[in-house]
Amino acid sequence: MTKAIRIHAHGGPEVMRWEDVPLPEPGPGEALVRHEAIGLNYIDIYFRTGLYKTPLPAILGMEGAGVIAALGEGVSSLAVGDRVAYATGPIGAYAQQRVIAADRLMKLPDGIDFRTAAAMMLQGMTAQYLLRRTYRVQPGDPILVHAAAGGVGLILCQWAKHLGATVIGVVSTEAKAELARANGAAHVLLSSADIPAEVKRITGGAMVPVVYDSVGKDTFMASLDCLAPLGMMVSYGSASGPVGAVDVGLLAAKGSLFLTRPSLATYTAKRRDLETCAGELFDVVLSGAVKIRVNQTFPLSEAAEAHRALEARRTTGSTVLLP
Ligand code: NDP
Repeated sequence: MTKAIRIHAHGGPEVMRWEDVPLPEPGPGEALVRHEAIGLNYIDIYFRTGLYKTPLPAILGMEGAGVIAALGEGVSSLAVGDRVAYATGPIGAYAQQRVIAADRLMKLPDGIDFRTAAAMMLQGMTAQYLLRRTYRVQPGDPILVHAAAGGVGLILCQWAKHLGATVIGVVSTEAKAELARANGAAHVLLSSADIPAEVKRITGGAMVPVVYDSVGKDTFMASLDCLAPLGMMVSYGSASGPVGAVDVGLLAAKGSLFLTRPSLATYTAKRRDLETCAGELFDVVLSGAVKIRVNQTFPLSEAAEAHRALEARRTTGSTVLLP
């Protein structure tokens, strides 16, 4: 047995229960990981509410860091005692220990501690594929980043600046604006502003070649209006609710735009892609170009409180749960 946060029904944070759950032996190709730290992510809320489907009961959580406690048959790339981290599912990370496919684990470099790893794997690999693959950011590009003081947001700001881009961040409060600026955003707009008009002013009318929009419903249409002709609309999250159906004719009317709804799962499905994505993240963190801001920690048993804080927009940067 192990202790875990499990849900038996979808709903608010009150459905999250701290309870004893069975712990299977690792089967062929699997590893038993003893968690030292667990990452909190917005996707955990989508699984809790039922926006993303999962059979019940379910242990929430996509991301963890810890030590290999046992290995199933046929795993030769890892050893008991190795320090590892992961973030690509399946869910089940809100537990003191878990079994997971060994080929989803990355060995941690010595310079990265468990809390940093649990904070950065999901949000940092997301920033990697968004900036390096979905739209390959070029030096000099002005780019628009929503929720710029959030977990993914602060990493996007720093990494994009490191690549030579000019980041225009959008946040909801002055305090978050300060934080985004301190983490590389050249310009920060409050979400209450007329965002397309401000982007027009900042870019001298050119608008931006890419928008990274994780807010969804509330920001989607304004984001389209921030793009230059042939620009790329990257709708990668739904913090304010799902975008829903889109009239593709709009993309022509607004300048032959591209629209994508990417997910980390697709970009890291192949082991080779996972290694490249995590490897580039390790490099920028170890070099100091990107600093992982663990601005909140909670005991794992109080994960419901962490969910309340994230949903109420009370967190900045990354949040870690401690088992
Ligand atoms: P954040 O730390 O960014 O928290 C969410 C932020 O969204 C809030 O702090 C808030 O910032 C902003 N927001 C805007 N409107 C709302 C609203 N109505 N309710 C709550 N928050 C709102 O979370 P994460 O870094 O964990 O994730 C950021 C986003 O990226 C999420 O939408 C997530 O689903 C998505 N994501 C997508 C991935 C993918 O591969 N597609 C992978 C990882 C994350 P403010 O107060 O400044 O507006």
